[in-house]
Amino acid sequence: MEYENRYLHTQRPKFDCLLFDLDDTLYPLSSGLAAACGQNIKDYMVEHLGIEKSKLIELGDLLYKNYGTTMAGLRAIGYDFDYDEYHSYVHGRLPYENLKPDPVLRNLLLSLPIRKVIFTNADKVHALKVLNKLGLEDCFEGIICFETLNPIHKSTASDDEDDMEFLGRASEINATTKTNDNKAPEIFDIIGHFAQPNPSSVLPKTPIVCKPSEAAIERALKIANIDPQRTLFFEDSARNILAGKRVGLHTVLIGKSQRVKGADYALESIHNLREALPELWEADIKSEVGYNAGKVTVETPVTA
Ligand SMILES: [Mg+2]
Repeated sequence: MEYENRYLHTQRPKFDCLLFDLDDTLYPLSSGLAAACGQNIKDYMVEHLGIEKSKLIELGDLLYKNYGTTMAGLRAIGYDFDYDEYHSYVHGRLPYENLKPDPVLRNLLLSLPIRKVIFTNADKVHALKVLNKLGLEDCFEGIICFETLNPIHKSTASDDEDDMEFLGRASEINATTKTNDNKAPEIFDIIGHFAQPNPSSVLPKTPIVCKPSEAAIERALKIANIDPQRTLFFEDSARNILAGKRVGLHTVLIGKSQRVKGADYALESIHNLREALPELWEADIKSEVGYNAGKVTVETPVTA
């Protein structure tokens, strides 16, 4: 009876999955990791790729804006590097000590009898380290990370299945330059491309699959067997929120009190989850049995 009442009262969709971004979503921006990461990326561009310091800001902005991550942009315009090496450089020296165990968030998460999955553009070493520092390592069913969406490493060409934007022009160039030690890779002049619009200049595609590409989000949903209509997506990035909304997810912007386009909710902090979405706890009392009865598995290289 109580069950029926609840059903009559609520017109909200029933959520059976919570999909969480990691950085600046499960911990605050003020921890300083994002700022340190940005600096490390700039250092990497200068030290490993020989990019002029005077171009760093403009180039970094264009790559981030057009490709989702600086890394994806660097690969698109023709730079070749080892993904693991890049990740260990930009994440290796982050001030992880600033992240403290978060028992409040842990209790919130563990009290929710709903699937919880991480979806981050970062690599698995970073994701695991962050979750460990926050004391949340056992709160999630799986992690979709860089390696999940980009299983082919080291610039190796692949005939990966389906319709992902995979291995465009830049990668072909890389494949050639790899075998040609003396020749510098041909780099697409993205600053020039935007400074002097030229119809014959086509922005190259990136071989890297990452948010906010809708294809990347759809791929993640497929891998984790997630129905977007029944899922809440928590993100600090406005453009990821918009992309998530476009693929049908219900969206919660984290870190801001004002909603942006595509955001169904906005929370200053993930800690406000219970106040903002009490129905997550109410609605799922009835589904608890079903959830526990059927063991759900998410394919992930991290928890495997
Ligand atoms: Mg984030």
